[in-house]
Amino acid sequence: MLCAYIASTMPTTLLDTKAATPLAGRTADGRVRLPGLSRAEIAAHLAEMGVEAKKVRMRANQIFNWVYHWGVTDFAAMTNIAKGFRADLEAHFTLARPGVIERQVSRDGTRKYLIRMAPGIEVESVFIPDVSRSGALCVSSQVGCTLTCTFCHTGTQRLVRNLTPAEIVLQVMACRDDLGEWPAAKGREGTDVTEWRHGGDRKLVNIVFMGMGEPLYNTDNVIESIDLISDDQGLSIGRRRITVSTSGVVPDIAKVGAANPMLAISLHAADDETRTRIMPINKKYPLDDLLQACRDYPGLSNARRITFEYVMLKGVNDTPQHARNLITKLQGIPAKVNLIPFNPWPGSPYECSDMDVIEDFARRLKKAGLAAPVRKTRGEDIMAACGQLKSESEKQRASVLRKAAKAAP
Ligand code: SAH
Ligand code: SF4
Repeated sequence: MLCAYIASTMPTTLLDTKAATPLAGRTADGRVRLPGLSRAEIAAHLAEMGVEAKKVRMRANQIFNWVYHWGVTDFAAMTNIAKGFRADLEAHFTLARPGVIERQVSRDGTRKYLIRMAPGIEVESVFIPDVSRSGALCVSSQVGCTLTCTFCHTGTQRLVRNLTPAEIVLQVMACRDDLGEWPAAKGREGTDVTEWRHGGDRKLVNIVFMGMGEPLYNTDNVIESIDLISDDQGLSIGRRRITVSTSGVVPDIAKVGAANPMLAISLHAADDETRTRIMPINKKYPLDDLLQACRDYPGLSNARRITFEYVMLKGVNDTPQHARNLITKLQGIPAKVNLIPFNPWPGSPYECSDMDVIEDFARRLKKAGLAAPVRKTRGEDIMAACGQLKSESEKQRASVLRKAAKAAP
């Protein structure tokens, strides 16, 4: 829902696309890309290089820490590793990270990145500076989406493919690059690493899987990325600061629950008829099954509630009766409801509910004891819902390139 409110109030900064580094796998010269690898993968590569078996684990841990905690981009910075071995590492691996090929910064500080992961695989992530006192990065889990929620522009884009764990983690690393937020940037000597690890004055401390795609149609990769992102010798963003949002892929809710992130459900209606109309996945996994999976989600308490996202669609899901349905259905679930004013996109079949209707809806939920904040829009020109992000950038970039081509002698 966060990404549904991204404003694009600043002109696009078009970066040199040639500088962007495609990732995943190996470089053209056969070197293995370290950023994005798990400890186990690093260890396997070290063993393949011929590193002594009894040293593999220790070396993998050292390298992991340099890559994900310190964010180094040069093997020379790995000062606890002997020069000769550093040269061996450099011959085998690269520390290059993928390039942000386009970046927009809105007046309110929101940053939107288009990152090229591989040829044809371009992913958008959005950094929102002021969510729950500190910033959140909204990451994508797929390019496109197979689901066809009628209010969501992503639903009109076909699925290109699932993102790998590396491609998810690299979105976080790209944001940290852009914010200049590796501990080394603050001076290695002067940094209180323990404090930094636990948040300190870091800006990027929350991750939300609310970008493009359905995370629970890519559950294994999402879980692997959560393991990497939350590793306290690495990026160190705790599992309680990571939220996975799903449209309701019931069988995988327990599976992702075992990895312990916070859960958000795109609910949008609390009766099967309305929900099926706007979210076809509801036919396969109806409300009662979905809400049972929510009740069974591990570790719920008042302090650890499920967020239910509810997009306000005029005349569709916004009447007092819809509010009553919602209150009844959520009974007994530690829940908060985020009311999201609908974000229209070209050709979208809905309008946003009027503000007084949204406020009345929120009042009813609050009266029943449910926290029900209305998500405020950021900036003036709202970019679009999550799914729209990539297509918008593609359109803009295409238009800039067309203009550049016309201007060329
Ligand atoms: N596929 C996952 C993750 C995407 S999160 C999911 O659906 O939960 C994106 C959030 O933005 C979802 O809650 C989605 O329902 C909401 N959204 C999509 N289109 C929107 C729009 N036009 N206006 C407001 N919110 C929208
Ligand atoms: Fe896909 Fe989520 Fe959009 Fe539905 S709301 S189409 S699941 S991205």
